[in-house]
Amino acid sequence: MTGVTTLPDRRLLLVHAHPDDESIGTGATMAHYAAAGAHVTLVTCTLGEEGEIHVPALAGLAAAEADQLGGYRIGELADACAALGVTDHRFLGGAGRYRDSGMMGLATNDHPRAFWRADLDSAAGQLLEVIREIRPQVLVTYDPNGFYGHPDHIQAHRVAMRAVELAVAEGIAPAKVYWTAMPRSVLDAGLEAFTGSSDNPFAGIDDASELPFGTPDAQIAARIDATEQHAAKEAAMRAHATQIPANSWLYAIAGNFGAEFMGVEYFTLAVGEKGPGRGRYGWEDDLFAGVGRDEPDRAPVAAAGLR
Ligand SMILES: [Zn+2]
Repeated sequence: MTGVTTLPDRRLLLVHAHPDDESIGTGATMAHYAAAGAHVTLVTCTLGEEGEIHVPALAGLAAAEADQLGGYRIGELADACAALGVTDHRFLGGAGRYRDSGMMGLATNDHPRAFWRADLDSAAGQLLEVIREIRPQVLVTYDPNGFYGHPDHIQAHRVAMRAVELAVAEGIAPAKVYWTAMPRSVLDAGLEAFTGSSDNPFAGIDDASELPFGTPDAQIAARIDATEQHAAKEAAMRAHATQIPANSWLYAIAGNFGAEFMGVEYFTLAVGEKGPGRGRYGWEDDLFAGVGRDEPDRAPVAAAGLR
């Protein structure tokens, strides 16, 4: 043999900001494609050092105390990936290269290793190395507002899109780039369902337009029905125990709304051509829709790092 590893012919790369974002935002989709035999690669940009800690016994790990939360979350993320069936996970530039910047406007934004301050070309170059190795046809990240405005999510968007530009220049760009999204109709239904609930995550919000996310249905490109993976997604979220309390309203919703809440995820298409879809807005039901699987330049990939 030549030492060339042949990856599966469908390859999906996801770029997320912190450990837990992959599970909350795209866990069902990741599990869905991993189970279907696609190669799923997760790149996480920070260790999530500035996260809250919902496990009282671990409170001393906090950034202002022992500052050990980031290292601890590496283990949580590994458990989450195992629950999702995802075996290829990396931290951008290596674990600890970039630090969680904390919420917008906090002093933590100015930490020398804060991801928010990362040099765009250098961080994008690190992601480009992963693209060269994996040659994903599909890349998933956030929209320009980082889905909800967190600086590390905005930066993940910038880094991913810059890496795509660099990949275009090398002729190895993914055929499609998606951004995570939440259709307005789904948000509206959620608001409606929680009206009058004692544990209302939308308390004080009268209209979905007051939320920092929500995309008109006509702008959604793909609806991935991975309801068969809803339990894997919930298990992955529970692996992030420091971040998501065991009594979180997220799990309550999952109980009330069944598999659809956890198992269906939505995306807008930022780069590439939309494939065939269905329904009123022609939503794709497959992120690889319309992507040629057997293009010679996308088939066998040298993947030395994966052995
Ligand atoms: Zn995050």
